[in-house]
Amino acid sequence: MALKKKKIVIGNWKMNIFTSKEAVKLVEGIKKESIKAKNTDIVVCPPFVYLADLKSVVSKKVALGVQNIFEETAGSYTGEVSAQHLTQFKVSYVIIGHSERRARGESDTSISKKIVRALENKITPVFCIGEASRDEQGEYLSFIKSQLVVGLSGVSKMQISDVVVAYEPIWAIGATEAMNSHQVHEMSLYIQKCIKEMYGTMVMMPRILYGGAVNADNAREIVDRGYVDGLLVGRESLKVENFVGIIKNVDLIK
Ligand code: PEP
Repeated sequence: MALKKKKIVIGNWKMNIFTSKEAVKLVEGIKKESIKAKNTDIVVCPPFVYLADLKSVVSKKVALGVQNIFEETAGSYTGEVSAQHLTQFKVSYVIIGHSERRARGESDTSISKKIVRALENKITPVFCIGEASRDEQGEYLSFIKSQLVVGLSGVSKMQISDVVVAYEPIWAIGATEAMNSHQVHEMSLYIQKCIKEMYGTMVMMPRILYGGAVNADNAREIVDRGYVDGLLVGRESLKVENFVGIIKNVDLIK
């Protein structure tokens, strides 16, 4: 029997939190307040500058992630950070292909290389996909499929379950309302169908997350009725009580 994977809640701090003291306080607060959440993996993704300080604060309970890596391994790439730089900081997750980076020119091909770099360094890629808008003809479904096909082109059948796929409709990111759980379920099924087409029906599925306007009030319904394995959270990951509220509600799901 396949092992049931734990749910996962990932906080993307983006370009927020401006002192080490604040960063450490936030992670310590999350650790303390989520102590009873036994069924949920928790990940924080701060800006790179806090990794050295957070390395000793993160634990088995609250893991460390980052928001990007570079697509090559080493060399003359001014300003870039390689996956290899991160292993010394206990980084175990990396968000790849977030729509805010795609909007600034990141391509599917570059994203696919980054996913390979992450896996080579035993860092779990959190591969973001999502459409900007929806049309009645269902064109957005082919768009999602092509993001999956190109993004995962360097990932083998053995590796696919080591990837986390985060479905984030761009129109729900930063919005006041999240997608409803019925639509989340439809997309989770569609992503599974695409992955089966790519890897065969016996494939071990990656964890599939939803992201976009998640908060403590809607988190449980989205995960439970949307049949996803967890959540990628932006704004609500910046305050202990809000992020922990999400974690606790997800953790209640059987
Ligand atoms: C995001 O940017 O990935 C995100 C989900 O943001 P928010 O939760 O703020 O909508």
